[in-house]
Amino acid sequence: MKITLHGASGGEVTGSAYLIQTDQANVLIDCGLFQGANKLENYNRLPRRGPLQQLDSVVLTHAHLDHTGRLPLLTRFGYAGPIYATPATIDLTDLILRDSARLQLEDAKRQARTRTGQGKPPVEPLYTARHIEQLRPLFRNMKYNHPTPVATGISVRAVEAGHVLGSASLEVTVEEKGVRKVIVFSGDIGPSGVPLHADPTPFKHADVVFMESTYGDRDHPSLNETAIEAREAVRETVEQGGRVLVPVFAIGRTQLLLYLLAGAFKRKTLTPFPIFVDSPMAIEATQIYRKHKELFDDEAVGMFESGELSRNLRTVKACPKPGDSRAIAAMKGPLMVLAGAGMCTGGRIMHHLINHLPDPTTLVLMVGYQSRGSIGRAIVDGARSVRIFGKPVPVRAKSHTFSGLSGHAGQKDLLAWIGSVAPSKPRIFLTHGEDMQRTTLRGLILKRFGLTAQMPEHLETIEI
Ligand SMILES: [Zn+2]
Repeated sequence: MKITLHGASGGEVTGSAYLIQTDQANVLIDCGLFQGANKLENYNRLPRRGPLQQLDSVVLTHAHLDHTGRLPLLTRFGYAGPIYATPATIDLTDLILRDSARLQLEDAKRQARTRTGQGKPPVEPLYTARHIEQLRPLFRNMKYNHPTPVATGISVRAVEAGHVLGSASLEVTVEEKGVRKVIVFSGDIGPSGVPLHADPTPFKHADVVFMESTYGDRDHPSLNETAIEAREAVRETVEQGGRVLVPVFAIGRTQLLLYLLAGAFKRKTLTPFPIFVDSPMAIEATQIYRKHKELFDDEAVGMFESGELSRNLRTVKACPKPGDSRAIAAMKGPLMVLAGAGMCTGGRIMHHLINHLPDPTTLVLMVGYQSRGSIGRAIVDGARSVRIFGKPVPVRAKSHTFSGLSGHAGQKDLLAWIGSVAPSKPRIFLTHGEDMQRTTLRGLILKRFGLTAQMPEHLETIEI
């Protein structure tokens, strides 16, 4: 058997894709999109020949674009086999890929305008909504904790990864010529003890482990402490009749934030105020969360089933239409608006920022990472003025960063996860992390467990 890394290796965090090849089968674990620099985006063009064109099946760890975003390329090149995933992952993948196709079309149109001016041929989007439709009939439900046969000699057992709704780590059992090997793919591992999502389930035995290392070099600030600080910042703004603007990622953080607000209203540490979910994608993602409520942790299931969750969130209003979004601008506070994009790179949050950054009673609450050079980062760094759509906007609003809301395990949780399987002495390969993060984690794994983890390169093939 051999496994080839078609992404999330060589210090890369995006583009997860692992090809398992035996004498009898080719199975792909994840099929993620490369995101970021131009160089990476070139990797997204799949080769038209080779083993990726002869797959028996595909298995997904979770729905995020860096794990699913190249799936439509497979169908585009004629793949018609099964795609196994948990039911929540299937629903979220469909939502994420539709959004990705829409963004790619917009991007292609924008590029076409500049390229036509330069006399160059237009760039085609990687895929369109039609290719996403072709994927839909290929999905097959994969239950947690039940071995699912996915190809001759290969079965997969999914367990909770605690990262996003439906996320799984995969235990892949491969039988070839009477020899049986267990390969574990961590997928993205979530933090332990976070409300709403269940904790990751560790493994006890593996021959080989492919493990993510995104935060291998550090721990996150405590969710409890940073949630209390964020709550106090929100309370101050609400008491002054101000407006809280929250740039959000539609899936995961929006739902967790709403859940934390419900808890604060229930315990009366905050008095309820109007909250607007001003993002069609976040609204749809929240419906998918409700549909799969059996995946919540016990406390959240209790809150949901007793009706306490909807009672405490009765001041939340969904704003699917652009008109709803514009209407919020004229409303008086106190109120909170959750709108995308999470890094203030576009989307409905932009017009809220244009209208209300000049107002000193506004609070911009950041709940996710703001990349260097983004408008979000400038606001966090205390800029007096930012340029939005080419026009200067004075910043008199306050900002606060709620830093404990990560969907990824920090170093301590990663070590606990690998610590559980370490006594079975697996070969360990660190992926899905930059080299500094991988190197730090590798050092700690050697020191604590006496195991030498490897750091594979892009397109490296590992014989097992
Ligand atoms: Zn992820």
